Amino acid sequence: MRLCRFDGDRLGVVTGDVVRDVTAALDVLPALRWPLPLEDPLIARLDAVIDRIATLLDAAPVVRLVDVALGSPVTSPSKIIGAPVNYRAHRDEIDDELRHGHAIKPISEWGLFLKASTALCGPSDGVAQCFLDERTDHEVELAVVIGRKGRDIPVDRALDHVAGYAIGLDITLRGPQFQSFRKSIDSYAVLGPWLVTADEIADPSSLSLSLDVDGVRRQQSDTSKLIYDVPRLIAYASEYYTLNPGDIIMTGTPDGVGPIRPGNILRAEIEGIGAMSVAVRRAA
Ligand code: MN
Repeated sequence: MRLCRFDGDRLGVVTGDVVRDVTAALDVLPALRWPLPLEDPLIARLDAVIDRIATLLDAAPVVRLVDVALGSPVTSPSKIIGAPVNYRAHRDEIDDELRHGHAIKPISEWGLFLKASTALCGPSDGVAQCFLDERTDHEVELAVVIGRKGRDIPVDRALDHVAGYAIGLDITLRGPQFQSFRKSIDSYAVLGPWLVTADEIADPSSLSLSLDVDGVRRQQSDTSKLIYDVPRLIAYASEYYTLNPGDIIMTGTPDGVGPIRPGNILRAEIEGIGAMSVAVRRAA
């Protein structure tokens, strides 16, 4: 199932070029009281929501996909986890301009990094680019959305903890600052166009992915080229962090990263998920 958040906070099921409005299924979510759990309330109860959707789908209002504004399908991740240099060809393209004095270490030594939850946005929100005198790059990535809480998750159980997949853009200010700072600017974590539930992706480690800027291909690769594949990334992250429902793992970008400017249209596509267009504008 392809679940989208559209036109504000409406919930939709995407089939072909239409969206079925199943916002009423959100009624299964409980009213929350302090202290709030560190999880996305919808993703944490995805099975119950999908059960309710099944009762609503036939009578659901239908709107055209091209007519809706798509938000991030996850609203409240406790964390957004990033994977540095997780494709060999991207590692090999990191030259002095990108390195900014950082040593290039393998992911086994470097570990993972966090992007602020406030950086999260959807494709129709667009990227609000800051620091226009500095280079800012696109990074297209398979994004994994965690569905079931876990710590020290073994590799062979890792995919049991996945709610679904989406396209992630890990927008990156190049510079000497820590990744958690320069990759955490508001709107620098784009998630969309929808959540594809895990049952639709048999093997997340063999999906083609690409990114175009203004119609020109910049990135083209396949998740089979990941250094740490999806199960290993989940296991690795959970050695350090408890993974909660709604947590997002951006799995790393292939080669071809390059600068973006206000006015650009980014189009990202991942096999089995779909495609999304994201406009870049100047931050107000
Ligand atoms: Mn990245």
